[in-house]
Amino acid sequence: MSLDLSGDRSEAPAVADDGVWLACIECEWMGAPFEEVRYRCPDCDGLLEVRYDEHPTFDEFEGTGVWRYADALPFDAGVSIEEGNTPLYAVPTIEDEVGVADLRVKHEGMNPTGSFKDRGMTVGVRVAEELGVGRLACASTGNTSAALACYGARAGTEVLVLLPAGKVAAGKVAQASLHGARILEVDGNFDACLDIVSDLAERGEAYLLNSLNPFRLEGQKTIGLEIIEQFRDQTGDLPDRIVLPVGNAGNTAALYKAFRELVAAGELSVEEVPTLTGVQAEGAAPMVEAIEEGNDEVRRWDEVETRATAIRIGNPVNAPKALPGIRETGGTAVAVSDEEITDAQRALARDGVGVEPASAASVAGLRKLRESGEIGSEEQVVCLTTGHLLKDPDAAAAAGADPEPVPADTEGVLEHLGE
Ligand SMILES: *Cc1c(COP(=O)(O)O)cnc(C)c1O
Ligand SMILES: [Zn+2]
Repeated sequence: MSLDLSGDRSEAPAVADDGVWLACIECEWMGAPFEEVRYRCPDCDGLLEVRYDEHPTFDEFEGTGVWRYADALPFDAGVSIEEGNTPLYAVPTIEDEVGVADLRVKHEGMNPTGSFKDRGMTVGVRVAEELGVGRLACASTGNTSAALACYGARAGTEVLVLLPAGKVAAGKVAQASLHGARILEVDGNFDACLDIVSDLAERGEAYLLNSLNPFRLEGQKTIGLEIIEQFRDQTGDLPDRIVLPVGNAGNTAALYKAFRELVAAGELSVEEVPTLTGVQAEGAAPMVEAIEEGNDEVRRWDEVETRATAIRIGNPVNAPKALPGIRETGGTAVAVSDEEITDAQRALARDGVGVEPASAASVAGLRKLRESGEIGSEEQVVCLTTGHLLKDPDAAAAAGADPEPVPADTEGVLEHLGE
């Protein structure tokens, strides 16, 4: 294993603001973080990442939730509704069935709006305040819009969201709507929505808070920091592997960055970095294709389909950050069918963990890689479940048992029960 630690340098460049700056991941460009709105490198159009002159150690963190990790973030505090500090559950039934040494589920559905997107938004909306922008916008398969609507409302800033018409789970649209976002339903898929909102952002119409925005990934890094702390508290050890659903690959990139910074801080050795393992739905698996074929670039899929609407994405924008994360940690990527996703959703529910379909992809992927022998029985694994069951009530109802109509009297109910 070898990690690219190029983000680690002990001296801030002249453009840094309080030890924080932006750098292109493809070329030498570096820039000031909060002077100008930027999403991509002005020289080569590469993705940007946030860099720091110092990386904190675990003993420097205090408090709880995302802002516990303020020393690893660009600000000390943000627009917060107590995001983060989500539970890391033991799931004994699935652990037994799958046959690994240890299995825990990091349930990001327990965030305020029911998905990990809150972690990115608490930081992203804080940066938007710093930049003084008037309107926030995103394209979304649903959860990003719910989180942005909520955090934008809290910050008192106008929010515009672009959703693929008919392809967003009911709970998510309801959230965006009630929190007061202006919702545009686009006659196209998520990737088309992102193309449009990126154009709007380039024209200065709105500040873009998709995961292309490097500050969002800073907030999402805290998933990795929490996993390390909680897993250590619960088991005295470190996880060998983290299995996660992949859509735009923002989390994959964010976890990799969290671990690189822990290595730079001297908290983890390179060998201790958990193996990152991505899972996509068969109908939307461009990252899996790139990993399997050994490609450096991800081919955009124009047609995508899956019941797991949160990962119904054909053009993962963070692929240039995420592919090295999977490769350099010795990980892999795997595609699972919608049937396998629903089965995993039921299995999680039996262990008391209610998740939306995309989240269950992590457990479906673990099962598949265990069966193929790619994941060993000696491994200690964390599966990331990204969103709450109530996000997609239709999928949950379809996966569960149907209600049984009965008459409105006890005798009739007993008779129905066959007692
Ligand atoms: C956004 C989202 C994903 C995809 O995450 P990426 O970081 O874009 O790969 C997965 N699951 C759920 C529930 C999501 O909301
Ligand atoms: Zn560049």
